[in-house]
Amino acid sequence: TPAAPHSASGEAVRTFDLSAVAPPARPARRWTPRRVVATPAAYDHAHGRRIMARVEALGIEVERLAANRLTGVRGETDRETYARAKATMAIVVSPPARRKLQPIAPSADWRFDLAEGCPAHCQYCYLAGSLSGPPVTRVYADLDDILAGLAAYAGHGTITSRRAARRDEGTTFEASCYTDPLALEHLTGSWRRAVEHFGGWDAPVQLRWTTKFDDVASFVGLPHAGRTRVRLSVNCAPVSTRMEGGTSSVPDRLAALRRLALDGYPVGLTIAPIIAVPDWQEHYGLLLDQVVAAVAGVPGLDLTAELITHRFTPGSKEVLLGWYPRTKLEMDEESRSRKHGKFGAVKYVYPAETMRQLRGWFETEIARRLPSCRILYWT
Ligand code: SF4
Repeated sequence: TPAAPHSASGEAVRTFDLSAVAPPARPARRWTPRRVVATPAAYDHAHGRRIMARVEALGIEVERLAANRLTGVRGETDRETYARAKATMAIVVSPPARRKLQPIAPSADWRFDLAEGCPAHCQYCYLAGSLSGPPVTRVYADLDDILAGLAAYAGHGTITSRRAARRDEGTTFEASCYTDPLALEHLTGSWRRAVEHFGGWDAPVQLRWTTKFDDVASFVGLPHAGRTRVRLSVNCAPVSTRMEGGTSSVPDRLAALRRLALDGYPVGLTIAPIIAVPDWQEHYGLLLDQVVAAVAGVPGLDLTAELITHRFTPGSKEVLLGWYPRTKLEMDEESRSRKHGKFGAVKYVYPAETMRQLRGWFETEIARRLPSCRILYWT
């Protein structure tokens, strides 16, 4: 049992039951796709062949497609298409447009992609409004070229230089915009290679990703050089237990965060989407208590928080209602404020007063319960 944490004044502070965040007794949650296909182009890449070998070693057959176009995922109904697509993994070469990196404020200077799509079933999934077509998970075979292409972007970007909370992170690269890395790592090995790539990079750079899975065993002991910040995406129990199908439980995610922090990784919390459920102060308070227990006694803890409130667009609402027709997720335009995002796109966010209350509460309670935690942004 770790020693009771002490405040700066030496006074004992509240302790929490660490059993809630102890390393899970059961194995980490791992996705087994029902169908794995590979395009002819994927066979031309060493990493593509590595992924195929991994998948076959797990006893899953890899189906070689006749052309570089993905076929056979449409069902008779939208529901059937959704179910088929969500159970399919395609090993493909990344589209050329993805190789030109885009800025991704406020999360990082640049985003790059090692995969697109996710096997989990979150009822608010942000991919719903961003990706088109059936939600197949595509993993990229041209990993070596993708990683080599990042060098041109180091030293450029605007995030680090203008945000005090970032301290000395260098140029930041976000690798989880369109996927969940730890949902796929056992099948691809891609993010592990990315950690090693950044660990050996002789420049001030940081790899970042966020996840709702807990499969971190293969990252412990890697030569990460403190250049990868893994954030665990967490939420209060009414949201995480009812709306995040197919993900690891929050206690398991926090146990994973602890393991990484003990291995010297900078870590973080992505609290998203923050939803104003009834009694939200109480529920998010319990979540923060779990985090306090998870990081208790970690030497040299480097913990950040990114706070993202729930929002939706007309397009994402329509897709999500198609995927999850019985969802209890509140997406009521009348009770929201209408905002115009980039290129004039409409989004619905909480009204100013709710935002003010949520923000004030999170900033106060994080400072009180997790004084060393740096809040990177609120949105
Ligand atoms: Fe979407 Fe993330 Fe949930 Fe996957 S884990 S379904 S990407 S919200």
